[in-house]
Amino acid sequence: MRARVVIAGLAALALTAAACGAGGDESSIIGKERLIIGVKPDQPGLGLKKKEGVYEGFDVDVAKEVAARVAGKGVSVQFVDAPSSQRERLLQAGQVDLVVATYSITPERKTKVAFAGPYYVAHQDTLVRQSETRIRNVRDLRGRNLCQVTGSNSWRRVQEEKKIPVNLVKAASYSMCIDKLKSGDVDAVSTDDLILAGFAASEGNQVKIINAPFTDERYGIGIRQGDIDGCEAVNKAITEMYQDGTAQKLLKKWFGATTLTLTETVPQFEGCD
Ligand code: GLU
Repeated sequence: MRARVVIAGLAALALTAAACGAGGDESSIIGKERLIIGVKPDQPGLGLKKKEGVYEGFDVDVAKEVAARVAGKGVSVQFVDAPSSQRERLLQAGQVDLVVATYSITPERKTKVAFAGPYYVAHQDTLVRQSETRIRNVRDLRGRNLCQVTGSNSWRRVQEEKKIPVNLVKAASYSMCIDKLKSGDVDAVSTDDLILAGFAASEGNQVKIINAPFTDERYGIGIRQGDIDGCEAVNKAITEMYQDGTAQKLLKKWFGATTLTLTETVPQFEGCD
């Protein structure tokens, strides 16, 4: 059975390679009738799975807008979960066409995938329990228990870039970090302000953001390396979204009720090559 599945898979691969010509180069997202887009399933305000296949949030709306602008209004978009630890792998394996999932552009990730954008620049901040009085700045995390999401960059910003010695406590996602914060297993969750604002809004007064931002998180749209045309088309879509007021409208829709200062101008792009 297993062997048959593998053989069928190989045959399909050979067919795809033949269809793409001798070089076997993969297709661009441009012209696709169906786009599979990876988003976060558990981050309120950004990417939240309501039920199988139905997601909501700022990233989800950005993804829908970009898809319609790149591939036409008739495009069918399928959303799938893209946890922090899976984003590069999903793109490299061709399991998703795009990733729009609070995905910071970093030099390390750029060795594996390409990025359009950024479509927004967030800033890392820190969430603590309401009763916490000693953590007022990232440096106050020294010696404390900090949540570490696998595949995410935020813990590196504290431990490797800021060189603050912390006790890292592993979790698979930021929603699990919030549970650990409430149960006392960690003292702080440090990550992008947009993510923390979404959780703070849904957790009521149990937690608070310390309001001491210390990084620029350039949110890119992950795309397969080599799809330069696709990447440029996504950049054009992002520019249009800022020019026609869509980006500002979406930022207000999802974060207007928070205390965040929202940046309403198009960020400086990275470039696609
Ligand atoms: N933006 C950061 C990153 O891409 C943290 C959020 C996340 O992991 O989704 O690593």
